[in-house]
Amino acid sequence: MSAAAEAVTDALRELHTRFAGLRDGQLADYIPQLALAEPDAFRLALISMDGHRYSTGDADVPFTMQSVSKPFVYALALSVLGLDEVGRWVNAEPSGEAFNAISLEPATGRPDNAMVNAGAIVTTALIPDTPDAPGFDRILDCLSRFAGRQLDVDEQVYASEAVTGDRNRALAYLIRSAGPLPVDPVAAMETYFRQCALRVTTLDLAAMAATLAHGGVNPLTGVEVVPEPVAAQVLAVMATCGMYDASGDWLLRVGLPAKSGVSGGLIASGPARFGLATYSPLLDPTGTSVRGRAAFGALSERLGLHLMHNP
Ligand code: GLU
Repeated sequence: MSAAAEAVTDALRELHTRFAGLRDGQLADYIPQLALAEPDAFRLALISMDGHRYSTGDADVPFTMQSVSKPFVYALALSVLGLDEVGRWVNAEPSGEAFNAISLEPATGRPDNAMVNAGAIVTTALIPDTPDAPGFDRILDCLSRFAGRQLDVDEQVYASEAVTGDRNRALAYLIRSAGPLPVDPVAAMETYFRQCALRVTTLDLAAMAATLAHGGVNPLTGVEVVPEPVAAQVLAVMATCGMYDASGDWLLRVGLPAKSGVSGGLIASGPARFGLATYSPLLDPTGTSVRGRAAFGALSERLGLHLMHNP
């Protein structure tokens, strides 16, 4: 093992030991199935640009993506429609608000960005839906290529959110009333709930984050999933908006484009360097994994990963 590989392996092991005992935070329970998660679960994975995989904990155990799906569906929308067309429907400004805020830009009716639920619902609705390639199939195919393997839906989590997701449905109707959502809110929400219920492992998430860091080319498969400019655009929006109302503090302290999800998944990309992922389901009030946040902060400090850092 090279010295660099040893440093990464040691760092992941040490972070796991250091933060596994952290018991702050709560399981998400507004989607009932997520409240059944194992609170002690803590998994870490990192994938380098040459496709080396590092992990600790049970990094092969699946969980649902939830909002970690959002940057990848945004990437698909940008690839299909381009930045200007996507920007007509969803802006790219930090909202400073919670993930599920009932909030649209007063002047345009657009959501602030594609990382909050309102913006992600619009982004999902923008994926073209044709009889031979329904929007969800395109999303599944694209996100599977980001992961480097075929993903599937956790039907129980999907059903659980479909039963309880009225706040998101309300957002979809609000968007349509404020400035036309391009498709039927019912269809958009069906696709959005399925996208949130896509099942991944911690290593899958690291591969997805690494693909964005690697200019849109999956470092495990060599497949170009999205063009390089799109990967850069997505990382920019993750850097400014990916952690909702904690995005500024995250960029200040951790210094990496990142995205959280309420199942406990968390990713960060080091452009041209690595993709990093954690899973641990106890969440802070902004919907971010408590152990994930602690581990990413410590790893950034230890390995000098902050993008504004001048080594
Ligand atoms: N499916 C969740 C929702 O729409 C995702 C939220 C999140 O992971 O931040 O409420």
